[in-house]
Amino acid sequence: MAQQLYICGKLGGMKKPVLRVTKWLGDIPVEAECRSCPGKTRFRVTPTSHRPSREEYAQQLQQAFDEHYKSVHASEAQPAAEAPS
Ligand SMILES: [Zn+2]
Repeated sequence: MAQQLYICGKLGGMKKPVLRVTKWLGDIPVEAECRSCPGKTRFRVTPTSHRPSREEYAQQLQQAFDEHYKSVHASEAQPAAEAPS
């Protein structure tokens, strides 16, 4: 709870870039976007096996988002921002 308040205060009204799943296959995430760049970004999973794996797909989306975050949002973030302990 304290951590959430900290984040809200730190970023003001800014939306924190987070991964948001936009398409589910049952309970498996297959498509996602960046909450800060709605409509501009789309992350899709690449099926690597016959049976979709919830964990694998989630990992793929997370990885794609991490790449996006690094190339787009990392420079926006304050380098001195430290995590609350
Ligand atoms: Zn973004």
